[in-house]
Amino acid sequence: MFEFLKKFRKQEQPQQLPEATEVSGLTELEVAKKIADVFPGISHLAINLTITGPDNDVEPSLNNRSFGPQSRAYFVFRCKNADCVDGGFDLQDDLLAATDEGRNEFSGRRLCHGWRNASVVGQQKCYYELNFRAHISYSVEHA
Ligand SMILES: [Zn+2]
Repeated sequence: MFEFLKKFRKQEQPQQLPEATEVSGLTELEVAKKIADVFPGISHLAINLTITGPDNDVEPSLNNRSFGPQSRAYFVFRCKNADCVDGGFDLQDDLLAATDEGRNEFSGRRLCHGWRNASVVGQQKCYYELNFRAHISYSVEHA
């Protein structure tokens, strides 16, 4: 009986689905470098995300993400439209620009350019809107 349970648990583990993550593209996440390697000056990064639907027909979704030097340097966030096809938000360039200039903050808004759902691919863009605000802390050596 116990042997059976053990076996069962062992088999179950590899099935943990990548869906649980908040970012899209799990493979890319796994191969992404650490923040310490890509942005050696950053000691902490906090990103505040608000995603709203194009017609304000859904409650805005709030999300705070926090990154340390050991976090993966991967900043593509999943669109909150559950039916969205090929959407998502990539903040990598914003972060690069901010760190290049040594800024402590960056913010902006972006529209999702995926498709609203599978039946209107090629016709209707998703256009969920992301508003973001980020704060960057740099290590002392960098300052
Ligand atoms: Zn979308």
